[in-house]
Amino acid sequence: MIFSFEKAFQAGVSHINSMVSPEGYTYFDVFRTSPAEAVMDWPDFVDLPARYLEAAVMLRPFGSCPCEKNLRDWLWKHIAEDGLAYRPDSPISRPDAELFDQSRLLYTLVSCLQKTPGDAVVEKALRGLCDGLIKISTRDGDISYISQIGVYYGGTLIRPLAQAGFLLREKRYLVFARRLAKGILSSEEYFGADGSFKGHVHGHMATVAGFIVLALHDQDDAMLKRAVGIFDYAKSISTQHGFVPELAQREDALVACETCALMDYLDVALLLARYVDAGMWSLVEKATRNHLARSQVGDTSWLDCNDAAENEEGILRRNLNSSLVGSFAGWSAPHALLAYEEVFWPEWVRTEEMKPRYMNKVRAIQNCCAGGGLRALHQVWSNVVTKEGGGLNVNLLFSKETKDVRVESALPADAHVKITLKKPAAFLRVRIPDRCRVDSLALSLNGEPCHSTKIVHGFIEMHSPAAGDVIELSLELLTEVETFSLSNPGHQSYQFEADWLGETVTEIRTDPGNPTSGYSRILKAPVLVFYGMDAPGMMYGHVPPPAFTESPPAPAMDDGIIDWYSLDALR
Ligand SMILES: [Zn+2]
Repeated sequence: MIFSFEKAFQAGVSHINSMVSPEGYTYFDVFRTSPAEAVMDWPDFVDLPARYLEAAVMLRPFGSCPCEKNLRDWLWKHIAEDGLAYRPDSPISRPDAELFDQSRLLYTLVSCLQKTPGDAVVEKALRGLCDGLIKISTRDGDISYISQIGVYYGGTLIRPLAQAGFLLREKRYLVFARRLAKGILSSEEYFGADGSFKGHVHGHMATVAGFIVLALHDQDDAMLKRAVGIFDYAKSISTQHGFVPELAQREDALVACETCALMDYLDVALLLARYVDAGMWSLVEKATRNHLARSQVGDTSWLDCNDAAENEEGILRRNLNSSLVGSFAGWSAPHALLAYEEVFWPEWVRTEEMKPRYMNKVRAIQNCCAGGGLRALHQVWSNVVTKEGGGLNVNLLFSKETKDVRVESALPADAHVKITLKKPAAFLRVRIPDRCRVDSLALSLNGEPCHSTKIVHGFIEMHSPAAGDVIELSLELLTEVETFSLSNPGHQSYQFEADWLGETVTEIRTDPGNPTSGYSRILKAPVLVFYGMDAPGMMYGHVPPPAFTESPPAPAMDDGIIDWYSLDALR
């Protein structure tokens, strides 16, 4: 089977179009009830609609989302005079400009303005939000924070604030982002000297991506070194096929990957790959081809969906079999879409009357990960081919088309990559994947064997290809069996075995001795865990996710307008 960004994005468009209400709200919770339900919750006032809107704008080349307008109307309804977005005073939410909501909205406004530079409404909202955040912050010398110093209290704002500063050419947004970063790095509470951290990986990795952008912009080697050390720790608690835990150092027996955590982990890896360490490209390709691609929901047989069930205000039951296709796992195991059965704790629900809607229902998906997974794919897709000076780098061996080049790859089914130049280039560099016999690499130019190449930093390099040239790379991929285990420190562990072919995992097997229940600290009781071969939503050896196909469609054109990585944009 071949991975295709185009198929994954098309499934994403279909999911977005079927999971946004006419009012413009989304459905954070998917419960494993009978029948399965998607239920609106407090993240659906700002956080999720922002993610869905950003994904819809990013995915425009793959299909239109008429619900973009509904999402915009809904979001703007929640933006107040002070520029911040507020949840309403409602049975499921308190009136609050919650900071994670503000960071999601910032990302979205930046991407929307990149896509449509003249959009005065978006620009006004973006400036209003940046200015509003500065206004509610406290300054203490060269540090700033909102309410208190912390990853939550400003960390996740750094990356989109910096990007807003570049886009709007507003230095003061960069200065504010730098002060937030300095505050967090000056505290010993959040990141250990050895790079370790505890808690929400999504938030911590987003913060580190912000550190790296600022470090690159300011040429601050000390901050860059600190960020690399933190990422090394994140790598140490993740697998090479892209399983990134939702929580670092969770104090119980449950361990799952949140797709949003993988998104920010990839954001960090992409920034490092582009500007610090080309060795990171292989990490990106492995995580994308494997856990990210396979975390997209294709088969809903692990849920009891009833397409004829009735909907209610704020609850979707009808047609979930198709609506959930294209969303992403919220708590995956390394080999399956759901790692364990957890339900909400009583404090989740604000009023007694709303408890029946949320309590005692097994949480199957957290739908922040739908927007997160699609953004993660877009981040990678936008970096498959990059320009450097007058040359081109093919960093990742996926199919992709830009105005300069067309790359066609059917890896790993066919270990062969075809690159057609649409314009002349000073050089063409193509990354050699991991687990590939370098002495058997064969390169041809317009059908003739090509020997005038060299290998530099893991890339095969060719000078001065002309417009119309066709370069073909034949590879011999190697197989490897990898064993790995997962656990939280001091708690029971789970063992796995993965078959690799080049940078693709073809199968994951679980150890028959893996525990089938584990203690949940949140519920203060053991729950069912799914680290066996009968887990819900098996990712391998089963119905393939939407991104996989026998014959990939033609690569779609990337106009490069939504760009969170170009160094030109950083200056
Ligand atoms: Zn998520």
